[in-house]
Amino acid sequence: MKRRFFFVWILSAVGLMTGCLPSRPRLVVREYPGMGTLGSVTALSDEEAFSWAARCAQITREWEERLSVFLPNSDLARINAAAGKGVVAISPETRWVLEHAIRLARESGGAFDPTVGPLMDLWGFRRQGLARKPMLDEIAASRERVGYHKLVISTEGCGLEREGMALDLGGIGKGVAVDRCWEELRREAKGRPFLVNLGGNIRASGRLPTGREWSIGIRDPFDPGRIVATISLEDGKAVATSGHYERFVVLDGERWAHIMDPRTGMPVRGMASVTVVADSAEDADGLSTTLFVMGREEGEAFLRQTGRNAAVLYIPDQKPLHLFPNASMKKIIKIDSRDPSLL
Ligand code: ADP
Ligand code: MG
Repeated sequence: MKRRFFFVWILSAVGLMTGCLPSRPRLVVREYPGMGTLGSVTALSDEEAFSWAARCAQITREWEERLSVFLPNSDLARINAAAGKGVVAISPETRWVLEHAIRLARESGGAFDPTVGPLMDLWGFRRQGLARKPMLDEIAASRERVGYHKLVISTEGCGLEREGMALDLGGIGKGVAVDRCWEELRREAKGRPFLVNLGGNIRASGRLPTGREWSIGIRDPFDPGRIVATISLEDGKAVATSGHYERFVVLDGERWAHIMDPRTGMPVRGMASVTVVADSAEDADGLSTTLFVMGREEGEAFLRQTGRNAAVLYIPDQKPLHLFPNASMKKIIKIDSRDPSLL
């Protein structure tokens, strides 16, 4: 399993647990592995956290078995293995996710693209890479095998038009799994509050026993141990962060992040992290990846044009650190005011 930084802290959980007032309900965090990262459920009691985390582990596993490119029998791996050879039968669940991914690809003009697999390979994110920066002709050759319009979905199943093409749902899959876990727990919890987290894709339910909303810490992308802001999450809302510090490769001494700009064939440069609060974990996950590619100006225009009401925090890859919350984000974010350079 790959080791990654967690970029969110459940600040309120930490605060309450160290508060130590016996009359105050404490929060319990129960972790589980899933989709190559760590998941967790936060709840009010050991029993709830324990049984809900077990349920989420199972749901996440089921989705991983459909969407992972590393499990050879998954729908995705079978589609990839048949690239250029026709359509393969897939589960209705995978079809549903692919349809959503294609919609986001279309609406974002290809900034989000579920067929980025060849570029992830070329830049060394999937297997042992080149250990050097790819040449322009290699990038051009991979780009020819990327393009969501070459992804075919028919009544028989799904296929990729060209050999060497490959799907990768890493930009949306964890969000999808979190939503399914959240829906299941929502039914079981009967109004009791909880938080589901899969590798930093978080969705909240209810409010804290104090009556306050759940609050989530945002990491400094240049110093991931430091929290630079907190965001409050209303009942049902989700948050996700795409950050350059989460996964990267070093080629010829340069650091390259794991999010590709399919339009150039290069890893995105210029962005350190993008945090999105949306109505579902799928939207937060998909949009954080999309807006990381687009950057602030193009991203805000895209949100306006498509009528999406997402709260976004952009942190450019330049020092000193600056935070750029959009108008919706300004209403729910609290920036660490002890550090005036952040404002
Ligand atoms: P994380 O996997 O850390 O949660 P993101 O949600 O930001 O991060 O998604 C990044 C992942 O999305 C990459 O690891 C890769 O699998 C996939 N990806 C990379 N570039 C793109 C892109 N332009 N469009 C869609 N998916 C992408
Ligand atoms: Mg994402």
